[in-house]
Amino acid sequence: MPNKKPTHDRMTAALAKIILFCLLAILLVPIQFTPAQAQQNTPQTLSLADLDAVMEEDESSLPSLDQSQITDLATLVAFLALAVTSFIKKSTRLKYATMVAAIAYMGFVKGNLVSLVHIFNLAEWSFPIFQYNVSWYVLMIFTVVSTVFWGRLYCGRICAFGALTQLMDRIIPSRFRFELPPRVDRYAIYVKYGILLFALTYFLITDNRFIYKYIEPFWMFTLSGTAVMWVLLAALLLVTVFIRNFYCRYLCSVGAALGVISNVTVFGIKRWKQCDTCKLCDKVCEWGAIQGPKISMSECVRCDDCEILYNDKAKCVHWLMLAKNEARHDTPE
Ligand code: SF4
Ligand code: SF4
Repeated sequence: MPNKKPTHDRMTAALAKIILFCLLAILLVPIQFTPAQAQQNTPQTLSLADLDAVMEEDESSLPSLDQSQITDLATLVAFLALAVTSFIKKSTRLKYATMVAAIAYMGFVKGNLVSLVHIFNLAEWSFPIFQYNVSWYVLMIFTVVSTVFWGRLYCGRICAFGALTQLMDRIIPSRFRFELPPRVDRYAIYVKYGILLFALTYFLITDNRFIYKYIEPFWMFTLSGTAVMWVLLAALLLVTVFIRNFYCRYLCSVGAALGVISNVTVFGIKRWKQCDTCKLCDKVCEWGAIQGPKISMSECVRCDDCEILYNDKAKCVHWLMLAKNEARHDTPE
């Protein structure tokens, strides 16, 4: 049996390494440009002409970050590197470590998830000042680029709320779980697109962006909700006990926006020709993304479950049939 990895896997690994390299470069560049170094290069007293020259140079040079920005950027880059590594290695342990880090760091420490507010910003083409928000730009660029390359990797690993509900799903006994009937599920997944459209229309008409608080639960990590919001959150988490990933699959407008981008994902999930008839991975997918021979990339969060199965030579029908055919050829007449 050939040991060589398929081109698709090699491309994915190469791209992931390029992203890891870029993340490392992002980390190293600002460290070269600390304010201490900038100060050393600045004369004690400046004439007006000198000041103009310094300001011009400042505008055209890379941003100099203070210590807290560098720490924030370094932690974010380390976290994203962990997420990408867990994805390339298809390591379940690293994936769960990433999810725990997502809740602790992205949720409670950083409290800065991709949100409807960012979609509103995009709609009115207004962005924060780069110099003071480098890590924000790194997160946004990573989210969009990784979605174009692989799909909703952000949802599968980076989002603290998604990580929380996925971990809940691991802890809660499966006897409590209830799946929506396929006919209902088929239409329910479009609700999130309706919510996204409604929120965007409301924002463009009223210019009121605070509606996001009642549409997405990410404020929970900053403990900034009103009593009504906490009650709604409790109800949402209660429903999630019975219907896995309920918010992500049916209601999240950020997931909907990333789902739209996922339609142009370059490196989807490989399929064997036996997948057309075998339903094993269909049952493995907890996101309802596999429908017969087709994978809906807008629903898939690159959780790895089906891909681990495809590579399992003791379970996947593709490999079992291959092994059977080889054994038949090796048997003497
Ligand atoms: S669907 Fe929404 S809540 Fe779920 S993981 Fe994605 S962004 Fe987070
Ligand atoms: S099981 Fe496969 S298709 Fe389903 S969400 Fe995970 S990676 Fe995507």
